[in-house]
Amino acid sequence: AQDKRESLYLVSEYANTYFKHILHKTDKGKSIGLSYFKERGFTEETIKKFDLGYCTDSWSAFTDEALKKGYKLEFLAETGLTIDKGDKQFDRFKGRVMFPIQSMSGRVLGFGGRILTNDKKAAKYLNSPESDIYHKSKVLYGIYHAKQSIAKEDNCYLVEGYTDVIQFHQTGVKNVVSSSGTALTSDQIRLINRLTKNITVLFDGDAAGMRASLRGIDLILEQGMNVKVCTFPEGEDPDSFAKTNTLEELEHYLNENAKDFIQFKASVLYEDSKNDPIKKAETISDIINSIAKIPDRIKREVYIQECSRIMDISEGVLFSTLAQLTQKEN
Ligand code: ATP
Ligand code: MN
Ligand code: MN
Ligand code: MN
Repeated sequence: AQDKRESLYLVSEYANTYFKHILHKTDKGKSIGLSYFKERGFTEETIKKFDLGYCTDSWSAFTDEALKKGYKLEFLAETGLTIDKGDKQFDRFKGRVMFPIQSMSGRVLGFGGRILTNDKKAAKYLNSPESDIYHKSKVLYGIYHAKQSIAKEDNCYLVEGYTDVIQFHQTGVKNVVSSSGTALTSDQIRLINRLTKNITVLFDGDAAGMRASLRGIDLILEQGMNVKVCTFPEGEDPDSFAKTNTLEELEHYLNENAKDFIQFKASVLYEDSKNDPIKKAETISDIINSIAKIPDRIKREVYIQECSRIMDISEGVLFSTLAQLTQKEN
C-alpha cells in the first residue's frame, strides 16, 4: 500500500512538472494558459511560486507522454489524471489551467483545473477525484505556502477559491488557505488548529458565500477556536478585492470589517429586520446554539454577555437557555 501511494505521488509530481513545462515553454501554453493568468493579474513570480500549469487542449497529449516516460496507466487512472476507457485514454484536464494542490509538506496530492471558455454547460473548476493520496475533506489549498505566516501572525484567513489564496499572497497577505469548493470540514479546521487558534472567514460577497460562512462558524467554535467573519461588498471576492487594492488598503479593510461571530450573525440574520420580534427571537436562538458549541465555560459566559448587550436581552434568559442546550449534549 505504501508502494502504491509512492507511485501516486510520483505520477502527480510528474504531471505537475509537465503542466508547468507546457505553460512556460510551449507556444500554445504561452498564448493560452500564461496569457490567461497574466490577464487575471498574476505576475510571473506568483505563477512560478504556485506551480501553475496548463494542460493542452488535446484528447490525450499528457497521458501519451506520461506512458512514454514509463508511468503506469494504473496510477495515472487512480489519480484521475487519465480517464481510462479501456481501449482509449483521455486527459481529464484537457484545455484547463492547472492549480496543483499540495500537502502541508509540499507534496502534490491532486489538482484543480479551470476552464478557459465561457461554456456554461462545463464545470468551471474540475478537481482530482479522491484517491489514496488525495482526500479532499482533509486538505486545504495553500497550506504549504501559508503555514509559517499562520503561526507567525497567529491567525488564518479562510477563503473559498484557489485564486483568492494566490491573489492574497501577491498582495502580501500570506496567512491564507482555501477549502476549494468543498464545504468546510472539521478535518480541515483541525489542520489550521495545529498552527493557530484564530480563524477569520472571508467568503465571497454573495448568497452562497454568506451561507457557507454561517455553516463554518459552529465547526470552528466546536474545536475551541476563535472565529471572526469579514464579508466583501456584493459581487466581490477576496481575489477581486485584493487585485484592486494595495496591501495597506487590504489590511485596513480586513481589520475594520472583521466581526466576531455574534456581531456577524446579529448583522446578517437580524439587522435588516429590526423591530421584528420573531426574527429577533430566531436570531438569539441561533446565536445561543453557536455559543453552546464552545467547549470553554469562561468563553461561553463572556459571549453570553456580549449577546445580551448586542441583542438587548437579559443575561438570565440566555444562561438558562444555554444550560438546557449544554445539558442535552452531556
Ligand atoms: P474564478 O475567480 O476563477 O471565476 P472563484 O474561485 O472565484 O473562480 P467561485 O465560483 O467563487 O470561483 O467558487 C469558489 C471555489 O469553488 C473555486 O475556487 C473552486 O475551488 C470551487 N468551484 C467553483 N465552481 C466549481 C465547480 N463547477 N466544480 C467544482 N468546484 C468548483
Ligand atoms: Mn462564489
Ligand atoms: Mn469566488
Ligand atoms: Mn473569483
